[in-house]
Amino acid sequence: MQWEVVIGLEVHAQLLTRSKIFSGASTRFGAEPNTQACPVDLGLPGTLPVLNRQAVEHAIRFGLAIGAQVAPVSIFARKNYFYPDLPKGYQISQYEQPVVLGGTLDIAVPAEKAGDPPRIRTINLTRAHLEEDAGKSLHEDFAGMSGIDLNRAGTPLLEIVSEPELRSAAEAVAYARALHGLVTWLGICDGNMQEGSFRVDANVSVRPLGQKEFGTRAEIKNLNSFRFLERAIQFEVRRQIELIEDGGRVVQETRLYDPDADETRSMRTKEDADDYRYFPEPDLPPLVIDPAQIEAVRNDMPELPSTKRARYQDELGLPQADALTLTSSLASAQFFEAALAALPDAAAQAKTLANWMMGELAAQLNRDGLDIADSKVSAPQLAGLVIRIADGTLSGKLAREVFHTLWAEGPVQGGPEVVDALIDRQGLRQISGDDVLGPIIDQVLANNAKSVDEYRAGKEKAFNALVGQVMKLSKGKANPQQVNELLKKKLG
Ligand code: ADP
Ligand code: MG
Repeated sequence: MQWEVVIGLEVHAQLLTRSKIFSGASTRFGAEPNTQACPVDLGLPGTLPVLNRQAVEHAIRFGLAIGAQVAPVSIFARKNYFYPDLPKGYQISQYEQPVVLGGTLDIAVPAEKAGDPPRIRTINLTRAHLEEDAGKSLHEDFAGMSGIDLNRAGTPLLEIVSEPELRSAAEAVAYARALHGLVTWLGICDGNMQEGSFRVDANVSVRPLGQKEFGTRAEIKNLNSFRFLERAIQFEVRRQIELIEDGGRVVQETRLYDPDADETRSMRTKEDADDYRYFPEPDLPPLVIDPAQIEAVRNDMPELPSTKRARYQDELGLPQADALTLTSSLASAQFFEAALAALPDAAAQAKTLANWMMGELAAQLNRDGLDIADSKVSAPQLAGLVIRIADGTLSGKLAREVFHTLWAEGPVQGGPEVVDALIDRQGLRQISGDDVLGPIIDQVLANNAKSVDEYRAGKEKAFNALVGQVMKLSKGKANPQQVNELLKKKLG
């Protein structure tokens, strides 16, 4: 039986505000436990919540960035449940009338075959709503007891819900990455996954390929890295398929991923909305957003990734997949534009630059576990490399050598000229031109009569052997394209 995987993600993004969503307590991370929770966060009698304006503006910003509808009126609701880290006994959230409705996100799903361009999909979002975070239960260091830290209680969250349109773990990760790139780009979330600023719940189900109805889903809670997200889904998909094929039935439940065992485990059977006894929050008026406020937020927005993308495609002629990859984070787009600014002919050289960023640079950053902002080859230096590739000074092979030498020595001060200095110092200039290459080729032909005869007898492979000899004699510096042409000419 062929199975289709169905995934919808609920992402909790902590909004970057100085104070909490309904109180003046600080949202700073890492303070001593219970030093940043005030009576409002604890829901003590007589306190009243007051909505944080900044949190609302962040939600509007997000809504505009994904082309969603920003609701003119939205309603806060009480979601009732009992848990030790929830002192009020309810969470203030939004339910039937959220602040953001709809919207889309373009994602780039890496190709399964290395070197192929990523696949692009547009994913629909259901909604995004404002809510408060809960506190944290601490199970360490208490001699068998648990402690509660309420510093996080009341931290503003934007819960962002996707339609069940994702069809693989890879697509789910691509979506989560795109969303992470967007909220950090917009400056509404710091994106720090270790600190829990960006947490993902994955709803996963499977169905026989071709079946219309969705299967029963399990929800895997609180995944705080892209790797865990991917592995948790992969495990869960295998588990559900095996269960069904063995004659079992998936039950709707909440599960937790254990990275050490690399498996998901049942936590509790899933509550239905009814279990939460949602009702409108009596202490808060409806959230009214007028067009003027939306315009004010719009005017204050940074250039959006989608706008930059369109510009890269229209003005620089980059393929959509390249434009999407380069704008996957603000730091990446800034690096690209800084390098572009150092190129004499940006339009003609943009594609080479893009290839280097998505190829060699991305691979090296990945190997070293570095963010692009900490690249050991600076943007202007990468531009210097592209300039010397474009004017024929460097072959692809020599350029890689220059790049890796720079990387090993880096980060060094200076712009494109650093590349030239290195080329001179190490004699990495490509050897071009008939007058220099001619004698080298003549020598190779004289020394390899056997290969020459074989080639003339129709053995194509012999030609490559001769090219190899020329490259060897030139210490890898001969211009490969010219060697090919000249060799063909000389062999007649
Ligand atoms: P709840 O709020 O109870 O978790 P929702 O209907 O709001 O439930 O859906 C939450 C998430 O689950 C959404 O991202 C949605 O796309 C996803 N989802 C819903 N049904 C399925 C399913 N059968 N398989 C996978 N994901 C699903
Ligand atoms: Mg849910």
